[in-house]
Amino acid sequence: MTFNLATMLREARHTAPDKPLCHSRDATFTYEQIDEASGRVAAALLALGLERGDRVAVQLPNLPEFLLCYFGILKAGLILVPLNPLLKAREIAYHLEDSGARILVTYAPLAGEGVEAAQTADKVPVYAVTLPGTADVPAGTLPFEDLLDAADSGDIAPTNADDTAVVLYTSGTTGRPKGAELTHFQLYMNCTVSGNLFGIREDDVVLAVLPLFHVFGLSSVLNVVVRFGGTLALVPRFEITPVLDAMAEHRCTIFSGVPTMFFALLHADTARHDLSALRVGCSGGAAIPGEVIRAFEEKFPGTVILEGYGLSESASTTTFNISAEQRKVGSIGKPVWGVETRVVDDADRTLPPGPEHVGEIVIRGHNMMKGYWNDPEATAEVVRDGWFHTGDLGYADEDGYLYIVDRKKDMVIRGGFNVYPREVEEVLYTHPAIAAAAVIGRADERLGEEVVACVVLKAGAQTDEEEVIAYCRERLAAYKYPREVRFFSTLPMGPTGKILKKELRTAVQ
Ligand code: AMP
Repeated sequence: MTFNLATMLREARHTAPDKPLCHSRDATFTYEQIDEASGRVAAALLALGLERGDRVAVQLPNLPEFLLCYFGILKAGLILVPLNPLLKAREIAYHLEDSGARILVTYAPLAGEGVEAAQTADKVPVYAVTLPGTADVPAGTLPFEDLLDAADSGDIAPTNADDTAVVLYTSGTTGRPKGAELTHFQLYMNCTVSGNLFGIREDDVVLAVLPLFHVFGLSSVLNVVVRFGGTLALVPRFEITPVLDAMAEHRCTIFSGVPTMFFALLHADTARHDLSALRVGCSGGAAIPGEVIRAFEEKFPGTVILEGYGLSESASTTTFNISAEQRKVGSIGKPVWGVETRVVDDADRTLPPGPEHVGEIVIRGHNMMKGYWNDPEATAEVVRDGWFHTGDLGYADEDGYLYIVDRKKDMVIRGGFNVYPREVEEVLYTHPAIAAAAVIGRADERLGEEVVACVVLKAGAQTDEEEVIAYCRERLAAYKYPREVRFFSTLPMGPTGKILKKELRTAVQ
């Protein structure tokens, strides 16, 4: 069977060629323009001698050129390896070498790192997307325009459903970054199922500030929009003013983000921006406190926040709360169509429902990765008997809704008792002076680990360690409440805005 994910772009273009596919900077690009230009990228890559299955690394922020590369690579039957723009030369070199990428496409302001990396990694050619309004091509790079010179072949390579479309690097549960291989079929299924779940429509405008190099942005934002013929408002980085400007200017109806983004919008001064078009907020990537959902929906009437859960290895959405009527706040929802989940103990036995039966969440279904790129051992560690082991701890309720309690590796064991940081964080977020919180374990001679709260105070708010501890002691069992509170001006965050607990653990040891 011929099956190429890029056919969804071609189909949408045939339905509505002049429809805007993306707004970016000061420009708008239609479905026809993106389809045409990505066809030229495909032809250019093939003309360079790349062959079906070859990898192309793309290190770009959320710009239209990301879409041109992505669909061009897919159309040519090649494999996209998206990289975080913040990576340094040494890290880029690792990804280039591990994936065996034949070309790197980067962004002019970042090009130095990519050029340095490319020297060590088999001297791959580096193409640079230049800054708007400049034609300056950084030293050691070739102009991205060279990839747009070809005449559009118009063809889409006849790939198979289970051909790899994207290799997404993720740290997974442990260790160095590994490339999760996602196929054309998986990605197509995931965006089809996800879009139907929250009822995306052709007239929806989705804010795309989640990085497109991450599974959440790539699968649940970009693919969903193209699959259903909607429009993207691309924002390269989460900064509150450009985000609010884009939401108001393009009348965004859907916002997909991680909890820290919802939190930032909740506390932003939005009086000068008309955000009344917003109707759905999709939250994922980390647990969103119930208090944030309540306050957000109060601040933006007519908006509902729907929480979902997924991983790079599961091509994004795995469970979802599908509507205001059917959601359970605090839950990650139920498995999406065609996906099964179980909660298992350490011997992989299924646990019964109930909060007292916390175990590891395992997944099976159309969304499961093919495996880790060139790493059968790492794959075998997480895929056992056909079930992918997520490393997330949780439980199911009688209605089949799942609740994440924590990452297996984030759980704190204090004096033999399991403390799930998330539960303590929920309490901290209800404290009137606290803007952000993360709870971690610190090595302790007597107890094994001690519970430490890392907090950021709201602007102008005041409190102290003793008061925060007392606040938690009133609301949590004796073994759970933090005995130590560290105050930070900001918490370290990863590319999608997830709090990096690993860095905090190092900071408090
Ligand atoms: P990544 O592969 O970078 O997408 O990270 C996947 C991880 O994000 C999962 O294994 C979870 O630990 C976490 N995650 C995703 N969605 C949620 C959610 N709704 N609640 C709690 N954790 C989540």
